[in-house]
Amino acid sequence: MTLIACTIDAIEPLTPTVNRVLLTPTTPISYQSGQYLQLCLTAEDKRPFSIASHAGSKQIELHIGASVADNFSSQALAHLQQLFAAKQPVLAEIGLGDAQLRTDSKRPLILLAGGTGFSYIYSIAQTLAKQNIQRPVFAYWGVRDVEALYHHPEMQQWASTNQLYQFIPVIQHSTPEWQGRTGLVHQAVLDDFASLAEYDIYIAGPFAMAGVVRDAFLQQGAKRENMFCDAFAYI
Ligand SMILES: Cc1cc2nc3c(=O)[nH]c(=O)nc-3n(C[C@H](O)[C@H](O)[C@H](O)COP(=O)(O)OP(=O)(O)OC[C@H]3O[C@@H](n4cnc5c(N)ncnc54)[C@H](O)[C@@H]3O)c2cc1C
Repeated sequence: MTLIACTIDAIEPLTPTVNRVLLTPTTPISYQSGQYLQLCLTAEDKRPFSIASHAGSKQIELHIGASVADNFSSQALAHLQQLFAAKQPVLAEIGLGDAQLRTDSKRPLILLAGGTGFSYIYSIAQTLAKQNIQRPVFAYWGVRDVEALYHHPEMQQWASTNQLYQFIPVIQHSTPEWQGRTGLVHQAVLDDFASLAEYDIYIAGPFAMAGVVRDAFLQQGAKRENMFCDAFAYI
């Protein structure tokens, strides 16, 4: 895969532990919604991050971080901040993965994100809306605390554009003020759908979540060939 130099346009906080990074590739690139890129920290150290922007966007948006600060994202962010301060580009491999949106399917969609896995479903949700795709879409986003729902208004706005679209945020550690769904996000899906057999299911989140979701969803009738999740290749 070719390495592309990308200008770093901005690094800005979305939450105390998650940052939005905007990149512009210096040569024309193409990617599909739901794909990821790898940031090259060194020739050997490449780290995957989902592309949050919709297919066709010239600027690439990333959401980098985790609810509990970890080396995976903090080292990548430190690398980007260093290059940004020095006005240097970052090298990336762009358009990776096999969990991109399938637009040829007619099945309804379940989008399932845990934490910064949101980046992945945000790209898909935007592309569905931009292409005016008329299929029922259930977008679930699970986070530990309500403060981590950094794009809540954007997703509510997305859902308001089409009667077929639903956005369901799920808070793991709820507060008395929170009126919505609580618990683990995949459990909310299991509670809402007696059978998952007829759905295309797109999944991103922590590795531990991906394994739990794969097993639980298969048990509830999901078809493996209609489940899309690049983390499956890592677990
Ligand atoms: C292809 C690929 C793309 C990636 N893209 C990104 C990216 O864009 N940005 C990034 O920062 N990192 C990315 N990563 C790395 C990694 O996936 C993230 O660091 C991780 O998802 C961060 O999770 P979190 O701390 O935000 O979630 P957490 O806060 O740990 O979890 C959020 C929610 O997920 C659910 N959940 C978590 N653990 C479990 C479990 N064990 N069982 C059931 N449910 C659970 C719960 O509902 C929980 O509230 C990527 C990795 C790969 C392989």
